[in-house]
Amino acid sequence: MATTPAAAQYVLNDALIEVRLPTGGWTPAPMPGTPIPTVSHSAGLLLGTPLPLGGSTLSITINFEGGLTPSQEAIFSSAKSAWEQVLRGYQPGISLTGPTIAATGVAIDGPGKVLGQAGPKVGWVESGYLVTYEGEMKFDTDDLAWMESTGVLEEVILHEMAHVLGFGTLWNLTLDGTLYNNVRPVAGQYTGANALNQYRLEFNQPAATYVPVELGGGAGTANSHWDEEDGGVALTGITQVGTGKDMAFELMTGWLDSPTFLSQTTLESFRDIGFTPVPEPAAAAGAFALGIVGLALWRRSSRSA
Ligand SMILES: [Zn+2]
Repeated sequence: MATTPAAAQYVLNDALIEVRLPTGGWTPAPMPGTPIPTVSHSAGLLLGTPLPLGGSTLSITINFEGGLTPSQEAIFSSAKSAWEQVLRGYQPGISLTGPTIAATGVAIDGPGKVLGQAGPKVGWVESGYLVTYEGEMKFDTDDLAWMESTGVLEEVILHEMAHVLGFGTLWNLTLDGTLYNNVRPVAGQYTGANALNQYRLEFNQPAATYVPVELGGGAGTANSHWDEEDGGVALTGITQVGTGKDMAFELMTGWLDSPTFLSQTTLESFRDIGFTPVPEPAAAAGAFALGIVGLALWRRSSRSA
């Protein structure tokens, strides 16, 4: 029997990724061919419809540390449950049960511009993986109300929570001289085997040698999202087999185009970095059938401001 390496914690560099409005403000900008939905937001499956999955051992702890209303906290809690249900737990040998995330509403920079910031703060190393031990999600108090009222808040929270869990933030990090989670060894190229294999099938890219990763958008966007046209201004032409959904609408591209869908490729990327996601796309889709939100073209951009 191999010896299980001891677990270790590492305080990570400040890797908070900002959520921003596009320059010039927030404008409903549906993708070509997408009907403009009404603003009758429905939290739908995220808020109250339990998934018939059960058995998840992943337990994300959200500590609400002020600045959020009960209804906003409820959206956080639903996002937490959704990720718990689809990621399920950790790979064998990882003794952590789940990260702790501090969630706050704080004044950042007034209405618009930066909407929020999120990322892992403390890492947990075990069995060769680096996963999140503690993370942080902060949203601008001047933006929370309208994000909630337009129905975008839950998508933003799901997206940002994925970053806290390691998507784009723990893809290759060197700690004490050891490189962990080396799934994006080259800029713009995700090569983690599980997500890459899934991408070839799910998006009919059999010859792909990597999943394209965003290079545009600045430091808080580049190399931490799936690739799409800069600014989310056009379809990618890469579509999900069976549904025809364009990659531009995937939850984890750099610009959030609604209605969002969660690809199995994203889920499998979490397998590459230590989780045990559900294998069936249909099951995953249930947790993230956000639908009907339909408004946003979000710029996730530089953290430098
Ligand atoms: Zn992002």
